Amino acid sequence: MSSITGQPRLVRARPARLLAPLRRLVDSVLPPRCLHCQAMVEGDGALCPDCWPLFDFLAPPLCEGCGFPFEYDPGPHDTVCGACHAHPPHFDRARSVLVYGENSRKLILDFKHGDRTWPAPAFGRWLARAGSDLIGGADIAVPVPLHRSRLYARRYNQASLLAMELGRATELEVEPELLTRHRPTPSQGRMSASARRRNVRGAFRLRRGFEEMVRGSRILLVDDVFTTGATAGECARTLKRAGAAAVDVLTLARVVRPRGE
Ligand SMILES: [Zn+2]
Ligand SMILES: [Zn+2]
Repeated sequence: MSSITGQPRLVRARPARLLAPLRRLVDSVLPPRCLHCQAMVEGDGALCPDCWPLFDFLAPPLCEGCGFPFEYDPGPHDTVCGACHAHPPHFDRARSVLVYGENSRKLILDFKHGDRTWPAPAFGRWLARAGSDLIGGADIAVPVPLHRSRLYARRYNQASLLAMELGRATELEVEPELLTRHRPTPSQGRMSASARRRNVRGAFRLRRGFEEMVRGSRILLVDDVFTTGATAGECARTLKRAGAAAVDVLTLARVVRPRGE
């Protein structure tokens, strides 16, 4: 257009002038808010300066397998934690954005049960950043599914929402229907790691029609919280039995208990 008119500045100025009031109108209806305290912030999906320090963002050094944060860099030879040595997980690598603590717990519970889904795009961008190493090599992103009884009660699957937003932030293909949870599993609140593994054993299936897509693919599983890794591990086992070449896991938060608890 600018080459035809020969007046690029004028042509460019017009839409900007038209868009500015519209932008202000949108901003006045939906001002960007802090994800934690809902104070006004600059730009979408951020935390205000007061709330940043309330959240523990995970950073290296991490266990190469499960993403458990190491206090000290273990060096190039010992890159997996004791738990991954003792019980090598079915997934290849797991990474998370945040440590699951008091504040991240509230953020996630509101997102999961409170119909408070407006932070989803920001979560998608956080996931894209924390999972950049995994995303580069992934063919498709797949959310951990809910059983239909829970989906009915909650009306949406928070993991699907996160996967869709991750897809939007990265252009990674998302297949929300690929896995199904065909058996309802009791809430795992106070179960030990081994009880959790038994609880979810055999709970997932590949939906018919996706066999070809899974064979030889590198899959990125998406969920809200990584607790012991039992759920992600069982999904990974299901996908690998179906021929997936690799399964990595990306979650919004991760429980970090001192080891030995
Ligand atoms: Zn705040
Ligand atoms: Zn580990």
